[in-house]
Amino acid sequence: MGLRTFKKGGVHPDENKFSANAPIQSADIPKQVSIPLGQHIGAPANAIVQKGDTVKVGQLIAEPNGFVSANIHSSVSGTVNKIDTVIDASGFKRPAVIIDVEGDEWLENIDRSADIIADVKLSKEEIVEKIKSSGIVGLGGATFPSHIKLTPPPGKKAEVLLINGVECEPYLTADHRIMLEKGEETVIGVSILMKGAGVSKAYIGIENNKPDAIAHLKNICKKYKGIEVVPLKVQYPQGGEKQLIDAVIRREVPSGALPIEVGAVVQNVGTAFAVYEAVQKNKPLFERVVTVTGKKLEKPSNFLVRIGTSTQQLIDAAGGLPQDTGKVVSGGPMMGKALSMLDIPVTKGSSGVLIFSESESKRRKMEPCIRCGKCVGVCPMGLEPYLLANQTEQKMWEQLETDSVMDCIECGSCMYTCPADRPLLDFIRLGKGTVGKIMRSRN
Ligand code: SF4
Ligand code: SF4
Repeated sequence: MGLRTFKKGGVHPDENKFSANAPIQSADIPKQVSIPLGQHIGAPANAIVQKGDTVKVGQLIAEPNGFVSANIHSSVSGTVNKIDTVIDASGFKRPAVIIDVEGDEWLENIDRSADIIADVKLSKEEIVEKIKSSGIVGLGGATFPSHIKLTPPPGKKAEVLLINGVECEPYLTADHRIMLEKGEETVIGVSILMKGAGVSKAYIGIENNKPDAIAHLKNICKKYKGIEVVPLKVQYPQGGEKQLIDAVIRREVPSGALPIEVGAVVQNVGTAFAVYEAVQKNKPLFERVVTVTGKKLEKPSNFLVRIGTSTQQLIDAAGGLPQDTGKVVSGGPMMGKALSMLDIPVTKGSSGVLIFSESESKRRKMEPCIRCGKCVGVCPMGLEPYLLANQTEQKMWEQLETDSVMDCIECGSCMYTCPADRPLLDFIRLGKGTVGKIMRSRN
């Protein structure tokens, strides 16, 4: 029997995992950090510090502003320079706390020892509260506050936890390195998430191009009850929640519904590691692993980075921008965003920084659609991308909603495969944004 994967669509871009063998190294602490207040899906947090306040590493500097929002902690020690706006990876100005760094003084209650603590003392409710207070959000890129997923709405019940160790985006290797170097802590994080979700079974899905991580975690999981590693066929976008659920437990999440509808809670391996650190080490989320890579980059790397560090600094640490750079992307090549400038702060959702040469980043000229249907064949959500793009061009918002544009997971498979080089995802994102606004104003 072949390896499991999801049923509908999918593509297999070149993997280009140049940094797969680069151990995680701590990036230098910068002289100043810009910590955006909106690093999660939902409303930006409210700053609770002011210009002139001194802060320590791990100190709370912003509180949630609504149900879907998250705490934000200082990643450095020093003095608050100002509360201002900064441009983030999306290219928009966002409110942020700017801190001048002085030393590296951590809150005393954070356990900085290398000891691995397996015994989980907190109750289910205490775990959820700890994850919430530690500002943990989905580190795979979605940045949905993690505690909310552990608290199903009335009438719904979690039955199984799925851990996303797929890292299906080409180039990215941060999750791979976490599984190899922090495997034990990550598996303990999985057992904490199981307790928090109230389930007795968890599956860690890992694509078969990471045999070392599969073998390592399988070995560790022998010691932990109810956690199983599931090797998966390499297929993009298997890291999508609905695709992972289909691949691992063969359940289909209905259109417009969340994974909890089929009893599933999905979290990323990086998130599981962050949960371990929060619950067992009292360490809030103020740093993360970021892959910095590119075909022509001198030292493709995986850095442990304090949130708010400038992307420019990471590129310099990886050997500097190659001369013929055409584009720098935050995130993976399929779903990431091209940066308008390099002085962009790393946030909780920053999985990678990719450097593309001019020839790699050149877009070919768009040709008329030849109705080949390839975009339909690869869409993992069963949509008709050429149609959604046309409807967006013609501002047919009602029809777009009827044709389920909101189901698009923005994976980019359609655009990747289109022989006419049509910017399908650009159009669909635009259509989705407009339809989303219309739906929200109606509700
Ligand atoms: S970007 Fe959207 S429409 Fe295109 S393949 Fe992915 S899910 Fe389908
Ligand atoms: S893949 Fe491109 S050319 Fe083919 S149907 Fe879709 S939009 Fe048209």
